[in-house]
Amino acid sequence: MESTSNQLQELRSILGKMEIALGAVDSAIVWTNAQGQIQWCNRSFDCLVGKLHIMILGKELQTILPLYYDGVIVPDAKYPVALAIKNKGKISESYECYLQEKGAILEITATYVEIAVNEPKEISIVITINDITEQQRTQTLLQQSKIELENRVALRTQELVKLNERLNQQNYELQAAKQIAEDANKAKSSFLATMSHEIRTPMNAVIGMTGLLLETNLDKQQQDFADTIHNSGEHLLNLVNEILDFSKLEAREMQLEILDFDIESSIEEVADILAKPAYSKGIEIATFIHPDTPKYLQGDISRLRQILLNLTNNAIKFTERGEVIIEVGLETELANSAILRFSVIDTGIGIPESAQHKLFQPFIQVDASTTRQYGGTGLGLAICKQLVELMGGEIHLESEEGKGSTFWFTVPFQKQINKSRGNHSLGIEILQGIKVLVVDDSITNCNILYHQMRSWGMTVDVLIKSTDVIPSLHRAIEMGQPYQVALIDMQMPELDGEHLGIQIKGSTVLKDLHLIMLTSLDQSGAATRMLEIGFADYICKPVRKARLLNSLVDTITGTLNEQKLTRKELNTKEIRPASKLRILLAEDSPINQKIAVNQLHSLGFKVDVVANGQEALDLLVTVPYDIILMDCQMPILDGYSTSRQIRDREAKPNYKFPKVIIIAITANAMREDRERCLEAGMDDFLSKPVRKEDLARKLDYWNQTLAEKNDVNPVPNIETLLPSSDTPEVDDILSDSVVEIDWQYLDEMCSGNNEFKQELLQAYLISMTEHLAVLTIALSANEYRDIEHEAHFIKGSSSALGITGVARLANILEDSGKNKKLPENATILLEKISKDIEKIKSLA
Ligand code: ADP
Repeated sequence: MESTSNQLQELRSILGKMEIALGAVDSAIVWTNAQGQIQWCNRSFDCLVGKLHIMILGKELQTILPLYYDGVIVPDAKYPVALAIKNKGKISESYECYLQEKGAILEITATYVEIAVNEPKEISIVITINDITEQQRTQTLLQQSKIELENRVALRTQELVKLNERLNQQNYELQAAKQIAEDANKAKSSFLATMSHEIRTPMNAVIGMTGLLLETNLDKQQQDFADTIHNSGEHLLNLVNEILDFSKLEAREMQLEILDFDIESSIEEVADILAKPAYSKGIEIATFIHPDTPKYLQGDISRLRQILLNLTNNAIKFTERGEVIIEVGLETELANSAILRFSVIDTGIGIPESAQHKLFQPFIQVDASTTRQYGGTGLGLAICKQLVELMGGEIHLESEEGKGSTFWFTVPFQKQINKSRGNHSLGIEILQGIKVLVVDDSITNCNILYHQMRSWGMTVDVLIKSTDVIPSLHRAIEMGQPYQVALIDMQMPELDGEHLGIQIKGSTVLKDLHLIMLTSLDQSGAATRMLEIGFADYICKPVRKARLLNSLVDTITGTLNEQKLTRKELNTKEIRPASKLRILLAEDSPINQKIAVNQLHSLGFKVDVVANGQEALDLLVTVPYDIILMDCQMPILDGYSTSRQIRDREAKPNYKFPKVIIIAITANAMREDRERCLEAGMDDFLSKPVRKEDLARKLDYWNQTLAEKNDVNPVPNIETLLPSSDTPEVDDILSDSVVEIDWQYLDEMCSGNNEFKQELLQAYLISMTEHLAVLTIALSANEYRDIEHEAHFIKGSSSALGITGVARLANILEDSGKNKKLPENATILLEKISKDIEKIKSLA
């Protein structure tokens, strides 16, 4: 009994503890019977429903805790208790509930429990309730923010899509604009090329014809007018060239050409070209190439020349007195390349500091007023800068107002492989230790000559006052160290070079001193006068290094004295005065023909002229020309096709003549045109209008190249074969039964090679038969143009082989065709030509 009461007490105690423990749980716990009446609940449930524990027990849960779903009260059958009983399991659901005037969301789990202590089994439902209002709110808020965020993202995405579409549209428009700009650029380039062609062609005529006009007898006023036209033409052409260059550079179309060149002669050439304008202003011009500068280089020499010409031209333009020096030195040297530094130094007006930084921009001039003293476009320096940068260098300026300017730039070049730093080693050892005195009032010139001659091992002293020379020479003799050579400048104050020379040569003590005259004035007759005084040589400034070296070596070895020079212009001895080159000019424009022929004649060259490519091809069958000056645009057969055909012929195994040099004459300065010329097989090109100096330089170059290959055989020019006073009259030729052939000439031309001579004659006969037939038809139909053309051809081919009789007869027919009046004996002339050709057939 006691144990039962103890057990009961123990059970109560356990129940009490359970009540306390379950009361401490946050979740409300309630236990009902199958009818939903509350059997037990914990403290959290009391708090949830806000009722005293005692008031709850035995009550129906549904009344104490009415539940709602979407605002609608949950009916009995759907109440968690009923549902758990129905399922005989566990159900879990969230409900709304309004307790103590406060809405809440409850998460309710109802568990069906069968208690099998008694029979029938007792059914209980255990319900746990959690207030998830806060959790739910947070979740709702989270959900809302999520939705909001999603909406915002969607909106942004939409905006981005639109932006993207806009960008795409803009991209498309930009692409289209770019295409338009590129097309415009191409159009601009081709417009420029066409314009340059269109402008250059008439300019060629203007400059060329005024050049011819100036060589005729004009009175002073006419001379003035013609000079003005000539100068304005040159100026205009310069302008066109500058604008064309500038736009090519801007459009990045300027391409560099890599050629082998010799820096020394290239620099000296620039000085040579500008020597005349410099000396006519009374300015000295000199070049100084530092002895350690590599001589043989590879690069775009014509662009380098263009920069130097531009800077030197400016230097002369902006200098009233003093000197202009072109200096070249080595900046850096590697095994295969070198960076050179070029400086153009003047003693001119200088450039204010404020203007210096902007001068390399286009169209900028220090004095931009319309009343400015110096002309110009303001493009020169901009072009120089772009060209220097294109070649991989940089350009700078140092200047002081009133004192002068130095424009300097660097350019990297490749060195020519297998060509060492060349010294003119010919005879240089003779100069070792030779004592030389330089007399020049220009300190710079003294300086340059000093360094040049020192690099050849000479002992050099300089004097800038000519009146000090005689005492110095005496002093040197007294000290037992006499001078062997003196280089004396012609133009010096107080005592000029000529008088100084007279004094030296008049002195019994000094007369053995070798004298070399340096002069910037190439007066006619001066050279002979100097030689008469006793000067060993006479060198024109700017002094070319090679020329000075040759002169010194010749003077020391006595070669000059032995030769007893009587040449008037010794300085031009490098250029052949009259060439034996066989030149053919293929040019359709009569004006251009006149100009070119005149230029060639004045340079001492002889030339034959044809008016189109076909004529050139015909003539080339019989005449082995050395050089063809080939116009690119010609009727009938243009220069390109002609060149191609010539090269095809030359490639044939039985072709006997040496390869002819073809120099294109093109009005198009664009790179593609030049490439087109090379592709067609031409060797070189000259830009129209052709300047005499450029032509001379080109011919001189090819003359030397050909001469190196083999000796050029002289061919009598057509003109030289035409009637002269001591040649037989036409009537004599007509009555002569023998064919007049210059056998000696023909033999010389074939170098005694009989086989070759026969081949030549055969080719001549084949070609003559065809042309004679055409000439016969032309004569019977009085087709003057054809008569002239065919007779010209027969004349050219005949004279080229020394068949002089035929050439003279054909010449008469050619003239008659030209004058559109046939001579009475035209048929007799034709017959005689045919007969002669028949006779040659029997000889060949
Ligand atoms: P241009 O000479 O055709 O006007 P450039 O671009 O060659 O154009 O030169 C621009 C300007 O720079 C010149 O107008 C002149 O004011 C100045 N300039 C160039 N070289 C010299 C120089 N050696 N001495 C003084 N001023 C110079």
